[in-house]
Amino acid sequence: MTTTVLVLGAGFGGLELSSRLAQELGDQVEITLIDRADAFVFGFSKLDVMFGKRTPAAVRLPYREITTPQVRFLRETITTIDPGARRVTTDRGTYEADVLVVALGADYDIAATPGLAEAGHEFYSLAGAEAVRDLLPTFRSGTVIVGVCGAPFKCPPAPSETALLLDELLRANGVRDHTRIQLVIPFGTPVPPSPATSEAILAAFADRDIEFVRDRKVAALDPATREAILDDGARLPFALFLGIPVHRAPAVVAASGLAEGGWIPVDKHTLATRFPGVYAVGDVTSVGTPKAGVFAEGAARVVADQLIARIRGENEPPGYDGTGACWMEFGDQQVARIDVDFFSTPGHPTGTFTPPSALTAAEKVEFGASRRARWFGLDG
Ligand SMILES: Cc1cc2nc3c(=O)[nH]c(=O)nc-3n(C[C@H](O)[C@H](O)[C@H](O)COP(=O)(O)OP(=O)(O)OC[C@H]3O[C@@H](n4cnc5c(N)ncnc54)[C@H](O)[C@@H]3O)c2cc1C
Repeated sequence: MTTTVLVLGAGFGGLELSSRLAQELGDQVEITLIDRADAFVFGFSKLDVMFGKRTPAAVRLPYREITTPQVRFLRETITTIDPGARRVTTDRGTYEADVLVVALGADYDIAATPGLAEAGHEFYSLAGAEAVRDLLPTFRSGTVIVGVCGAPFKCPPAPSETALLLDELLRANGVRDHTRIQLVIPFGTPVPPSPATSEAILAAFADRDIEFVRDRKVAALDPATREAILDDGARLPFALFLGIPVHRAPAVVAASGLAEGGWIPVDKHTLATRFPGVYAVGDVTSVGTPKAGVFAEGAARVVADQLIARIRGENEPPGYDGTGACWMEFGDQQVARIDVDFFSTPGHPTGTFTPPSALTAAEKVEFGASRRARWFGLDG
């Protein structure tokens, strides 16, 4: 008997789930993978594009490369999800399956930050990163604010990486002495679960004259005065504002009845929603891990392993452990690694820090290459 699986969203979560199920189950499974985009882009590739290290074309992984026979990829926009019936409607059709997995990630709500669209720039989308890339070479003096506009947001270390990479670029352009970099973030330290990582980042900031504005969000931008207005009313003038926009679950998820408090609640070990046969993984959930690809992928692996065991009639495999390893760019081709554990001590995530090195930078390259191979059958 064939099990049908409908996977919504072909990001970290959806791609890992589909490839693992197909690889392990062969023709015991039929997977329909739906995404409105025509290509996948690693989150970290957006920083590569923004800082001119890679072109947008080089970082796009087109879904047409997915040639696994058990995976049918459909480029369609999902318009309704009925979790009770495990039925999904898109702009092209209606689909039902034995198992439904929601992996639709998080959308950006630019309008939630007044003034951001007029006076600032976001760099969390590929188009946004590309636009910032084009204006950075002409930025020669004044203050750049890297500002977080809401929490939770994807990849908590990314704003700190951005500040460090910006410093590197402005130095290379010979304008660092005429510029000021400020990072506004709603945390007390750059990476709260790992004090050692935070210490290393703060030391790097001190070395490079990057100002760390802690425990604050950017509530609005004033386009007339070119100031960022923080959530305590303080005003910081800027010449260039690079924002991390407010994140929201996609509207189709909000309308489906799956979300509570903005995100989809799931059993933290099985990733099951309250609807039978319906799971959710990755950024769209409130599972208790950060919104990051490594966690979306880890959760997808757990869902896949449960389905594989069930179909093979084997014992239930171990549940999701809430661990993951994140890479963190320090500039000058040095990358650190942070191993984080969100579940072992409830309410107290812990992390260990591997200092920046070229060796860890190579590990990050290998991480990307292994996913390109596993998900798209691409070499290198
Ligand atoms: C600048 C930046 C740097 C980052 N660096 C890292 C890093 O170093 N390490 C790391 O682990 N993570 C990093 N991330 C975070 C990472 O990219 C995300 O957390 C990850 O992609 C989440 O995976 P996901 O599967 O939950 O969702 P996504 O990968 O976002 O996939 C969701 C998919 O759903 C699709 N979709 C949404 N709505 C619809 C709809 N209505 N119809 C059809 N399709 C739809 C989208 O097109 C998308 O392809 C970074 C992110 C950014 C922005």
